[in-house]
Amino acid sequence: MRRISILGATGSIGQSTIDLIRRDIASYDVIALTGGRNVDQLARDAIELGAKLAVTCEPALFGALKDRLAGTGIEAAAGDVAVAEAASRPAEWIMSAIVGAAGLVPGMEAIRQGGTLALANKETLVAAGPLVMAATRDHNARILPVDSEHSAVFQALVGEDIEAVERIIITASGGALRDWPFERLARATVADASTHPNWAMGQRITIDSASMFNKALELIETREFFGVDPAQIEVVIHPESLVHALVGFRDGALMAHVGASDMRHAIGFALNWPERRELPVARLDLAKIGTLTFRAPDPQRYPALRLAQSVMEAGGQSGAAFNAAKEIALDAFIAGRIGFLDMAGFVEDVLDKMWSSDGLNRAANSLDDILETDRLARRRASDLIAISA
Ligand code: NAD
Ligand code: MG
Repeated sequence: MRRISILGATGSIGQSTIDLIRRDIASYDVIALTGGRNVDQLARDAIELGAKLAVTCEPALFGALKDRLAGTGIEAAAGDVAVAEAASRPAEWIMSAIVGAAGLVPGMEAIRQGGTLALANKETLVAAGPLVMAATRDHNARILPVDSEHSAVFQALVGEDIEAVERIIITASGGALRDWPFERLARATVADASTHPNWAMGQRITIDSASMFNKALELIETREFFGVDPAQIEVVIHPESLVHALVGFRDGALMAHVGASDMRHAIGFALNWPERRELPVARLDLAKIGTLTFRAPDPQRYPALRLAQSVMEAGGQSGAAFNAAKEIALDAFIAGRIGFLDMAGFVEDVLDKMWSSDGLNRAANSLDDILETDRLARRRASDLIAISA
């Protein structure tokens, strides 16, 4: 039996992971599940999967979780420290599917115990790529990407030499507001930005898809995971979301990964790697699909992509500040305090300020440096938003 844990089990990726585990439950020994406010779901899943431990990140919900697990023998715990402790429990395979920078510390704990980290939480690499990759080497751990684009690149690189790679192209659907005229975007509401045309995902990443902040994070994730130059990574808009990424080699060949828009593919690939096993995802009928379209993203519409390039060029801890400022701007948009187009402006202001006065391009020596930069960027973003309101 393979020991596994799922961090962020109650979310969109977590539930898709559980869907795959459930189909072959006899093969898995579930060590820990973690979640947030949805303790009903967490307790139900922990009982169904026979988990040893269930943890909510919300300290106030400890009692509620404990009640729901009474008499089952499943251990209950709550709070950030308990989530990190769950991640540190020995397991061969751990899914990192917490949303946001909150996934960083638990992800690092999982790496330190030397198993395989299936990484959906892109913020881990955006905020602390060099530290995370170094820890992976030091602890003989392995990261398998779960973001669909990065899983696609990983698959296109099997058997290839990374030195032969000329470019990596990741696709973007364009998100919910793709076909809106630019003038209308300033008035887009949270509801407008929260319905993705092709993928069913958590609310935060869905809004980030509409603003392309998600793709901006993925550019940085690509650089950190595959170790390529920023100039080698491209984004192309592909409204059908069927080609997930392409790798271009020095002989001009492009290897594309094509598949249904179903995260269970990338999750299942990481779960079964290095084997390929049958997965419950739709098989594409290309003749029926008929046409796949591609177009260049409009830089005026998607300033997040330009910001990602600046972040990659500046290096150091810029990614940590970029992500943290983005999370605060996104919170403010969700709370109705700032407009859709204002998010990028605030993030850029935070970066400019921190590049000029906070030594943001210095490399981090430890996770504590990253966490400090994250806190500072959140404070700067909150201050700027408060002043403007
Ligand atoms: P989600 O919001 O649906 O779920 C997030 C999970 O994290 C939940 O279990 C929640 O309880 C938990 N959580 C939230 N805040 C937490 C905190 N402070 N501490 C501990 N746990 C916390 O999110 P999602 O859409 O499943 O995305 C998860 C991650 O995967 C994100 O990093 C996202 O960018 C990435 N990702 C998601 C998709 C997708 O299709 N949903 C695709 C690619 C990558
Ligand atoms: Mg993605």
